[in-house]
Amino acid sequence: MVVGGGITGCSAAWYLAQFGADVLLLEQHDLNTQASGRNAGSLHGQIQQPSFRERGEAWARDFLPSLRFLIDSLHIWDSLTDLLGSDLEVSLKGGLLIADSSDQMRLIESKVALERSAGVQSDILGPSDLRRVAPYLSDSMVGAQLCHVEGKCNPLLAAPALARAARQEGGRVIVGAEVLSLEEDNGRFVATTNKGRFESNRVVLAAGNGLNRFSRLWGTPLPIASEPVQAAATEPVSSVVDHLVYFAGDKLTFKQARSGNLLIGGGWAADVDPASGVARVNLQSLISNMAVAMRAVPSLTGVRLIRSWAGIGLATPDLAPIVGSLGPAGLYVGVYPHLGLTAGPLLGKVLAQLALDRAPDFDLGTFAPDRF
Ligand SMILES: Cc1cc2nc3c(=O)[nH]c(=O)nc-3n(C[C@H](O)[C@H](O)[C@H](O)COP(=O)(O)OP(=O)(O)OC[C@H]3O[C@@H](n4cnc5c(N)ncnc54)[C@H](O)[C@@H]3O)c2cc1C
Repeated sequence: MVVGGGITGCSAAWYLAQFGADVLLLEQHDLNTQASGRNAGSLHGQIQQPSFRERGEAWARDFLPSLRFLIDSLHIWDSLTDLLGSDLEVSLKGGLLIADSSDQMRLIESKVALERSAGVQSDILGPSDLRRVAPYLSDSMVGAQLCHVEGKCNPLLAAPALARAARQEGGRVIVGAEVLSLEEDNGRFVATTNKGRFESNRVVLAAGNGLNRFSRLWGTPLPIASEPVQAAATEPVSSVVDHLVYFAGDKLTFKQARSGNLLIGGGWAADVDPASGVARVNLQSLISNMAVAMRAVPSLTGVRLIRSWAGIGLATPDLAPIVGSLGPAGLYVGVYPHLGLTAGPLLGKVLAQLALDRAPDFDLGTFAPDRF
């Protein structure tokens, strides 16, 4: 049984079904309606610059296994369209972390050196090379990191396509089924939902922001913090941006969807409605995010913003994922903070492997839930 119909849960269900398990996925709303369907579609393969700036090199060194996890997941993304027979609009043409000062470039160079030690290859571009590959950027940019493995996808397509593939392999997917309680008795789990009771001898918890509710049931709650964040889209414009673009001077991600819309984000804080717990756009964050975007891409001044939205992102204290066994034998939990769209395909795969007593494709030692 899998709880959660985001990218992680749908991937887990697909792999479980492929491995021959009798799989049931339970989702409280519709598929892909929480973080997995609200993100900005960036496929990340570098240490995020704001975290590097704030937490420093020692943290970044410890983060390298988490970076490798993203890289291995990007390998799955690269073939996912073919594996699923469904176009997910994946494009891995690289990520550009641009800089407008020599201090920023120095920090980028030390980050790139660390990433290289984990096998992630990037080029350092000077101003003329940067203008050649991204002529739409401000002339004030003095250079960039070009990280070759990064890119983008359409997050509205991915989780539903994985769930469809799980169904085609014999899996069952029930939406509108909120798991209200989960009990274990003699190695058998019983999930009580508003659509009835379901039993299984293995459970994968891929419930995202709902995970803490379950982790409290078995000892100390996992230290997962909710971080409401937002993103925005412009009207479609003619094709100009190939890369996933970040800015070392402030929080920004910038890319172009296949539809032509420019997607702008970078982890700017959203609000949460205190009554419903639903994330909503913070206007000041939106204004600040657009100001940073226009600093990087001045021609944005002539483009209309058409939509902004918010969702709940998650953080762990060390920004590393939490993956492994929790509580009674047979229960597994998986969450990748901040960058969980990128991590989702591999996270689902290793959760499926754990649940079936197979050796996971990735050494999960440093991600154990009991490390805190
Ligand atoms: C605005 C925003 C932008 C982001 N941008 C990016 C990005 O560009 N790139 C990137 O890699 N990551 C990004 N992220 C992070 C990424 O979206 C998440 O890390 C990822 O989607 C998490 O996937 P998930 O399947 O683990 O969780 P979710 O997508 O949250 O799915 C969990 C599911 O579990 C269900 N659930 C919870 N409790 C229960 C219950 N009791 N019973 C039944 N079902 C339950 C929920 O309804 C939900 O559908 C962004 C996040 C946000 C909010």
